[in-house]
Amino acid sequence: MRAMVLDSPGAPLREAELAAPAAGPGQVVVAVDACGVCRTDLHVVDGELPDPKLPLVPGHQIVGRVVEPGERFAAGARVGIPWLGWTDGECRYCLSGRENLCDRARFTGYHLDGGYAELVAADERFCFTVPEGYEDLQAAPLLCAGLIGYRSLRLAGDAERLGLYGFGASAHIVTQVARHQGRRVFAFTRAEDERAQAFARELGAEWAGDASQRPPEELDAAIIFAPVGELVPAALAAVAKGGSVVCAGIHMSDIPSFPYELLWGERVVRSVANLTRRDGEEFLVLAPRVPVRTEVEAFPLAAANKALARLRAGEIRGAAVLQVSAST
Ligand SMILES: [Zn+2]
Ligand SMILES: [Zn+2]
Repeated sequence: MRAMVLDSPGAPLREAELAAPAAGPGQVVVAVDACGVCRTDLHVVDGELPDPKLPLVPGHQIVGRVVEPGERFAAGARVGIPWLGWTDGECRYCLSGRENLCDRARFTGYHLDGGYAELVAADERFCFTVPEGYEDLQAAPLLCAGLIGYRSLRLAGDAERLGLYGFGASAHIVTQVARHQGRRVFAFTRAEDERAQAFARELGAEWAGDASQRPPEELDAAIIFAPVGELVPAALAAVAKGGSVVCAGIHMSDIPSFPYELLWGERVVRSVANLTRRDGEEFLVLAPRVPVRTEVEAFPLAAANKALARLRAGEIRGAAVLQVSAST
């Protein structure tokens, strides 16, 4: 099979011909149709996350069709494969509905080969049914940008006035869900990124501005998608008493020190780590009801490095997705 392979962090992905994966116990093999490109892939490729499997096939927003069936999924079934690829199922976290925190968890496109390839093997317990009504390309970003965005939104509580810092793939989905839930959305982008600000307004944000700006009124919660530690005190300064600041990314630059006054008034800073299968099942039922419409920029598999470079530069409107099946 053709694949894009990371040999060592910091180096570009290499186009390679690899042996087709075989299904291990509990696994299905899936022919990949589309694989979303996530900011986490950038962190893996850039060496900002420790100890990836090497060599590695990245990619964890996979939509494809089962070619080697298992017990849950028959041959031909369309499945989605997310970031959470395996957990031990027996630790304190797993046994309390918090499998996202499992110490032994293994992640797709990080510890396990992912979807920047024509075929992928996956533990079928962690695969999802992809909602009908979405093309493969449009469905792929639901698997991480959507799913982890949804978890972040849930953990932001019942905030009416919601700030979103970093207007990429996740924020463009979360805005639609938040509007559907009757919330008001305030979008914060890189300085003078008028394209992203206009995009946020199109999707229903009532205000969009630079992340250094204060919104026109206090927020009840903020979700930070951008991997920029300076945004934590900025968001704390923008939320009202009792408000939460949710850090949704897996990696962030250091958070600068800030006066206690910013946290005072029962403000909360928290992170969101990974996803649970429950998040996925809930979100994939909710998405077509909103309905969430994803805006994607498609790249052939062999152009994965270009997709990553455009994402790094903040040039993607919506989500970048590798179109795998049509590029063979
Ligand atoms: Zn566990
Ligand atoms: Zn992701």
